[in-house]
Amino acid sequence: MQNLWNDIEAAACVGDLAQRVYSSRLLGCERSLVLHGGGNTSVKTRERNVFGEEEDLLYVKGSGWDLATIEARGFTPLRLAPTARLATLAYLPDTEMMRLLRSYAVTPEAPAPSVESILHAILPFKFVDHTHADALLAVANTPDGAQRIADLYGEQALIVPYIMPGFALAKACAERLAACPDVKRLSCIVLMGHGLFTFGETAKEAYSRMIELVTRAEEYIRRMGTWHIAFPPATPPARPLRAELAALRKEVSAAAGAPMIMITHSDDKSLGFARRSDVASIARRGPATPDHIIRTKRLPLIGRDVAGYRSEYEAYFEQHRALINGPLTMLDPAPRVILDPELGMLTAGRSVKDARIAAEIYTQTIDVILHAESLGGWQALPAEDLFRVEYWDLELAKLKKPAASEVFLGEVALVTGAASGIGRACAQSLLKRGAAVVGLDLNPAIVGAFPSPAYRGIVADVTDESALREALEQTVRAFGGLDVLVLNAGIFPSSQRIAALDTPTWQRTLRVNLDANLALMREAHPLLKLAPRGGRVVIIGSKNVPAPGPGAAAYSASKAALTQLARVAALEWGADGIRVNVIHPNAVFDTGIWSEEVLAARAESYGLTVEQYKRNNVLQVEVTSHDVAELAAELCGPLFAKTTGAQIPVDGGNERVI
Ligand code: ZN
Repeated sequence: MQNLWNDIEAAACVGDLAQRVYSSRLLGCERSLVLHGGGNTSVKTRERNVFGEEEDLLYVKGSGWDLATIEARGFTPLRLAPTARLATLAYLPDTEMMRLLRSYAVTPEAPAPSVESILHAILPFKFVDHTHADALLAVANTPDGAQRIADLYGEQALIVPYIMPGFALAKACAERLAACPDVKRLSCIVLMGHGLFTFGETAKEAYSRMIELVTRAEEYIRRMGTWHIAFPPATPPARPLRAELAALRKEVSAAAGAPMIMITHSDDKSLGFARRSDVASIARRGPATPDHIIRTKRLPLIGRDVAGYRSEYEAYFEQHRALINGPLTMLDPAPRVILDPELGMLTAGRSVKDARIAAEIYTQTIDVILHAESLGGWQALPAEDLFRVEYWDLELAKLKKPAASEVFLGEVALVTGAASGIGRACAQSLLKRGAAVVGLDLNPAIVGAFPSPAYRGIVADVTDESALREALEQTVRAFGGLDVLVLNAGIFPSSQRIAALDTPTWQRTLRVNLDANLALMREAHPLLKLAPRGGRVVIIGSKNVPAPGPGAAAYSASKAALTQLARVAALEWGADGIRVNVIHPNAVFDTGIWSEEVLAARAESYGLTVEQYKRNNVLQVEVTSHDVAELAAELCGPLFAKTTGAQIPVDGGNERVI
């Protein structure tokens, strides 16, 4: 493992806390040391309080912060003496420990301190680093793991058998440190089945020891087992998989009790691991470290029997629930990692972020498992120990409830013509409500239209049916299924009276505005049918449907036919739980069609100013893309749960329509 310490960069970080931030980030950017909020670090320092008195403080990582991106305000300053003294108590419930620790913070606005704060406090070293290093776990999680670690690190390591993190672990370490003849000779504590603490008088010393000790574990694996694990090129089945994937995601969502995002990973490693003949044995022993359990669950699902996984999880819960005092509610029994020999690795979560985190953790876990296997056999902690962590109040507190605004969390929407105007606004409104969104457009700008991981842009011509099928396939592999379809892409040919309307213009308009939508609806139907909460289709029609204008025959006819198509779809698909509604916008000027010049010319032809022209409706209001998009999003939400086949104007009120 590479030591990333840079003396020049480090010199720019003046003071204990700045040094702490610097080396914490070095640890955080190495995935095989810590992942997603895992690990923690601290520094002991002395500061002058408001009375001018010197105080010994422990700056320890606050919960909710990631080491890779932590800042000075991500550390909680605790009074050192009472924090360390807690380890002398005979017993302290963890929730009470957290309450007391919070009361020792000298700044009330600081984040909740790490659950491992007491352990940091009792170590008589200035800088303390803690990681869940993969290589160390691979060596430790084997038969004779403790002996191997003892041989590897000798007298500089204090080896502590697995103990539940929190007060019990801090107390056990305090007792062992007290019994240690020369604590200052120690450079690390190895927590079996959990991770590694290193320490030193400087940030550089603690960090360098971490890198050095983990490197030694890596070299041990290289010497005694197999370091380089090759995954030969592998390919997923060539047939379309979207129907199978969406059906599986529906079952996973039903088990979770809410729509779930499900990402398909079919790289060589994911496929190679899922296709191993021993996968059902090695992948079903447990996680690399208990910290991962809230992200990945204790075990992955092997194959596609979600019902079987569900009843196995329920049995595991019933078997162990008595380990926890007090009433306990079972977490949802849905798998977060699925290993299927055909499909590869699938990861599930309530959000794209959660499903990605599960993937990152499991990708690292594969290395730990295979390294430990090469050393003689991968061993995980017993189910009881893992259950205690899974249902530990302090871990449960990390499972955030979705925000009330995220009504579409776990759901997947596809929006056509999403690079600009109403389509782009629809994508934005759906993303804001928590949906994962796929945008389709001819314009290559679609690819990077939104920087969110919950967004995917695909360049596609909606009149190309094979491109539509490919886009649906990509959508389902990226996010698991399809819940919402917004049909927005369309063209508005330049004004032509019927007497002069050429056939190619007519045909092209109908092909884009009508035929393409029929094809996409037909291809999307099997997926919308599998939407956990029922599929929804929103069609962007036009005021021209109820009130056409001269010179717009092709456009008006195409949108009228599209509206009729939507009405028939509402009738045919109601039994499948799919709602189909139409929005008729008018005079939305913040779209690609309306340049400043076109707008000025049009206003002038009516004898109006641009401002007057924009508000030329009953309510005298301007209608924006955002207004249309917000209505489209709401139509897919609970407010309209019992509405289908509706046509709703967004036009400020039009005398000819009213
Ligand atoms: Zn830990």
